[in-house]
Amino acid sequence: MKVMKFGGTSVGSPQRIKNVATLISGKGKNMIVLSAMSGTTNSLIEISEAVKADDPQLACKLISSLEERYSGVIEELLTTQDARERTRTIVADFFNDIRHTISSPESPLLEKQIVARGEMISTNLMHAYLHECGVNSVLLPALDFMRTDEHGEPDLPYISKHLNQLLEENPEADMYITQGFICLDHEGNIHNLERGGSDYTASLIGAAIMAEEIEIWTDIDGMHNNDPRFVDGTKPVRNLHFEEAAELAYFGAKILHPTCILPAKINNIPVRLLNTMEPDAPGTLIDNNLRSACIKAVAAKDNITAIKIKSGRMLLAYGFLKKVFEIFEKYETAIDMITTSEVGVSVTVDNERNLDRIVEELHRFGTVTIDRNMTIICVVGDLEWQNRGFEAKALDALRDIPVRMISYGGSNYNISFLIKAEDKTRALRALSAEIFA
Ligand code: ASP
Ligand code: MG
Repeated sequence: MKVMKFGGTSVGSPQRIKNVATLISGKGKNMIVLSAMSGTTNSLIEISEAVKADDPQLACKLISSLEERYSGVIEELLTTQDARERTRTIVADFFNDIRHTISSPESPLLEKQIVARGEMISTNLMHAYLHECGVNSVLLPALDFMRTDEHGEPDLPYISKHLNQLLEENPEADMYITQGFICLDHEGNIHNLERGGSDYTASLIGAAIMAEEIEIWTDIDGMHNNDPRFVDGTKPVRNLHFEEAAELAYFGAKILHPTCILPAKINNIPVRLLNTMEPDAPGTLIDNNLRSACIKAVAAKDNITAIKIKSGRMLLAYGFLKKVFEIFEKYETAIDMITTSEVGVSVTVDNERNLDRIVEELHRFGTVTIDRNMTIICVVGDLEWQNRGFEAKALDALRDIPVRMISYGGSNYNISFLIKAEDKTRALRALSAEIFA
């Protein structure tokens, strides 16, 4: 069994839902994971924001306009009166749930409950359409098996047990459909796996059922070797090692959510990134095999802040880094890049939530300098230190660009450069020209 996940734009209109239905039909008994139709999660968040801002009128207006959109979708998607009626009732129930939820605006789980309806609606639409086409799909509600534990982490043994049970109870299905993104928390409240979390759902399901492959379907031909929004002539990368894909997903390649890699990697389940617009194209295969001695791709991550701590006390001292890191730990701030010298250390963070307090405490150690609005450029590939010339190539490409930090040797898979945000496009283009030309 394969897991096939389709994102919001892939199911973003009645026509696109029909395309996906054609794509998944006749491919065997697979598990189909769907996101909400594009725009829906944002609209639902807007609705909960309006409720939180104590503007129930605006919330009601937004609910009605979203509901109207869906009544148009149902009309266009389904042909028989019977199917339309049935689906209208199901969707109306979801909107009534939303209206009911906003009647107790003080609930801390309000937003989670509201946004969950997006995936519930899209899966019901697909299910209804498949049935109209004579496909016996079975809809497995994600809330019946997808759950996080008391630390907010997916509870894989629970997920596996309950999902496999559901599959056993429904052996007659042509295929299974379920919602991405949504889950229950350890207390049984509706929760979710964070924005973009449907990829994570797909990967967790893949691990839970030991799927033969996890397919992530989007609108681009696999993971590209550079960011196509800034660089012309980028090409899809055919093969990536899980570690390479993890670096790229974290450092800005929007196509795959970073959390998705781990469950697949641990269970050695290949992940394939495919394009709904070109279903026969090979896409990108991510697995545990390393295609050696080459640079695969370049990615960039914006909104980075660099912090430099310079201290005479670091000279010949031990325990200095520990003390520095403890401050970041105390304020629950993850560090991305680190470089050190004998008299100082530079680190980067991607959120400034607790920066003021962190900096205040860091002053104990010496002078602290902050550089805002920076970008990490990440070069990914088989960069085993024994391979010669790759660092030189990357550095040479950046010869005209001021570089604030360089990090290399932390893994065998990447070199990271910290530069000013304004130099990003130039850096990405220069790297493509030097490395992939
Ligand atoms: N619908 C959710 C979002 O927009 C989850 C997803 O699409 O992966 O974030
Ligand atoms: Mg996505």
